[in-house]
Amino acid sequence: MLVLLNYLNGRLAPPLAGRYLDNIDPATGRVYGQIPDSGPEDIAAAVAAAEAALPAWAARPAEERGRLLEKIADLIDQNLEALALAECRDNGKPLALARSMDIPRAASNFRFFGTAAPHFATEAHVQPGLALNYTVRHPVGVVGCISPWNLPLYLFTWKIAPALAVGCCVVAKPSEVTPATAFLLSALCIEAGLPPGVLNIVHGTGPGCGQALVEHPAVKAISFTGGTATGRHLAATAAPLFKKLSLELGGKNPNIVFADCDLAAAVATSIRSSFANQGQICLCGSRLFIERPIYEAFKVEFLRQLKDQTIGDPLLPETKQGALVSEAHLHKVLAYIELAHKEGGTLLAGGHRATVPGRCAEGFFLEPTVFENLPPDCRTNQEEIFGPVVTLTPFDTEAEALAMANATDYGLSATVWTRDLARAHRLAPALHCGVVWVNTWLHRDLRTPFGGMKNSGVGREGGLEALRFFTEAQNICISLI
Ligand code: NDP
Repeated sequence: MLVLLNYLNGRLAPPLAGRYLDNIDPATGRVYGQIPDSGPEDIAAAVAAAEAALPAWAARPAEERGRLLEKIADLIDQNLEALALAECRDNGKPLALARSMDIPRAASNFRFFGTAAPHFATEAHVQPGLALNYTVRHPVGVVGCISPWNLPLYLFTWKIAPALAVGCCVVAKPSEVTPATAFLLSALCIEAGLPPGVLNIVHGTGPGCGQALVEHPAVKAISFTGGTATGRHLAATAAPLFKKLSLELGGKNPNIVFADCDLAAAVATSIRSSFANQGQICLCGSRLFIERPIYEAFKVEFLRQLKDQTIGDPLLPETKQGALVSEAHLHKVLAYIELAHKEGGTLLAGGHRATVPGRCAEGFFLEPTVFENLPPDCRTNQEEIFGPVVTLTPFDTEAEALAMANATDYGLSATVWTRDLARAHRLAPALHCGVVWVNTWLHRDLRTPFGGMKNSGVGREGGLEALRFFTEAQNICISLI
């Protein structure tokens, strides 16, 4: 039985109150480990360690901090297989996906921000003969990073790396549902020689220890990725304490396919953007709008390729669809499938819990599911399902597609498929979302701003945006007279 520990002041430590939670393998439905059920006392100890470490870490030259981050990146690369296996077991995602996407991206996060740190420059504003203004960016101080279960190490490190790069010290809480790779990261940070207290990882539930992190007066900023309802609660807690807040929240992303697109590319990528990671990526396109002349052709080919989405044991190389992350989440997604039926949707594929024989017989598997004939304003088309469930809807004009795409409370990302360059340029800025992909999906450049509009979030991550978030800008004005 794998028993995880917190990473506190440079050491692995049990939770102070000695309480643990079960960790479940979603592919088998069985408990395979225990994780600390930490409380406010563990958060207090972690914040104290971070405060003690802060002056020396912030004072270290950016190059030195960067070298340490790059060392952690190298260790992640060297431990790719162990980390990928841990992510697969904890989350239910195919091992091949963890190996090719999650873990390499975690290494890239550390490497990207490690090398960015020495290049982070500030502005000067000169008023000739009058004054010289220059900006100094100070690390915010001790910050909290809270991440979800869908891309566990990928998103955890996306927050931690820029914070450490600019000289902040971090108390981080991974999702209690997928804590394993954060635990393994602790050991790699110790091996890399990260000074004690610079990064502390506290395991436990949102209400049990996440809340204490958000409330702690010494924590100056919170970077959060998770659901919109949790984000709203966090914002209400943090706002009266005047903490900086970055919120990356849910999505209900449109995928707009025009008749002039490269149909083969649009279908193949739409299969991925609908069902990758069992549809549990905030950027998945769950509302497919298809221009009427190619609606039937798209549908036929989409359903044909769907048959190749082999559901199976996440450890097997041929598996494209692993398990959903938990039994509770499986039931939530099944309830949305029931709702789609009630709302009058026509089921085109899937719709049921899937059974995988052998060791995964009790796992939380679900068939990739496709509906059509649902109005754009029904709950199925408005609420984030966060599972392998998509709807197909035809449209006749560009204006109609745009209106339907924008008609949700979310605004995270959108995908547009067209060969018409003018249309792409016209449509992209009119979409109310933070990220627009044209003829591609999930193509990421870590320098670009990343985040959502409307109920999908506040603030941006990535590149300079992240480095700026974790710093306080101070203007210094020198008189030239
Ligand atoms: P949750 O909002 O349930 O949880 C996110 C994190 O917040 C977890 O670590 C959770 O802990 C913690 N948490 C819960 N309650 C509190 C609290 N009161 N105080 C502090 N922390 C708390 O999201 P999920 O884990 O279910 O993740 C799925 C959601 O994340 C989806 O809505 C998805 O769209 C969104 N997401 C957004 C992304 C983006 O970039 N915009 C990217 C990826 C996902 P615990 O789980 O241990 O209870």
